[in-house]
Amino acid sequence: MAKNGLLRFTHSSALRYGVILPIKGFIENSLIEWEGKIVSIIFLPTCNLRCPYCHAPHLVQTPNELESIPVDAVIDKMKQNLGWVDGIVVTGGEPTTHRQLDVFLHSLKELGVLVRLDTNGTNPHILKDFIARNLVDCVAMDIKAPLQKEKYDLVSGVPCAIEDIEESIRIIMESGIEYEFRTTVCPSQLDGDDIEDIARTIQGAERYILQAFRPNHCLDTGMLKIDPYPPETLRSFAASAGKYVGYCCVRGEEGKVLQRNW
Ligand code: SF4
Repeated sequence: MAKNGLLRFTHSSALRYGVILPIKGFIENSLIEWEGKIVSIIFLPTCNLRCPYCHAPHLVQTPNELESIPVDAVIDKMKQNLGWVDGIVVTGGEPTTHRQLDVFLHSLKELGVLVRLDTNGTNPHILKDFIARNLVDCVAMDIKAPLQKEKYDLVSGVPCAIEDIEESIRIIMESGIEYEFRTTVCPSQLDGDDIEDIARTIQGAERYILQAFRPNHCLDTGMLKIDPYPPETLRSFAASAGKYVGYCCVRGEEGKVLQRNW
């Protein structure tokens, strides 16, 4: 037991304890996922939201049809790659829906691996706990819509607690760790005023990323008929949002930065 009353896990103890974490995807290295770093990526299933544009419907709706990759194998691979892979991005799905994620993150931190957590911000207490325990070095949080209940529920596909989203934003901005906020911009859901509204909400944030909506592999097949915004429109949204944050850029689905405001 550690001084703070929390159980301490080591790499070997994590294996011995048999962390239950259904890892459904592992990319060994990526140069574009975490700007300036070479990282691995893991994909965790299930999500408490149902965003109609979600590009991971298989992870969200039918995760049991996907094989799981053993946790031990991922940790061993990270260990092997120490020295040339800087870190790992933990994405999904919504990673914070997994109760033993902290044990896994602890194992990675003990190896000296940098960790970025991708989240939809609906579990602020978990986020706060992970940050307090130094289990994450960076957080990337989706902000689905302006923080108005009706709009947020529409874009998330389920009822959302706006106060949880606000709390997560506050925790992240006060954390002192690296972070970014992100919004997927779909023409049937959000316009330029909405993006400016979100940017105003996170005024003073370091980084705000606009992600281009792409009509492929969407959770709601009705989204496949929607034409995405042209790049120049997204660039104009980024220019407006950039007035409120450190920098704002448009990022394509493939991770390529299309436009920055600096
Ligand atoms: S896009 Fe929405 S539904 Fe899909 S994983 Fe992210 S938060 Fe969940």
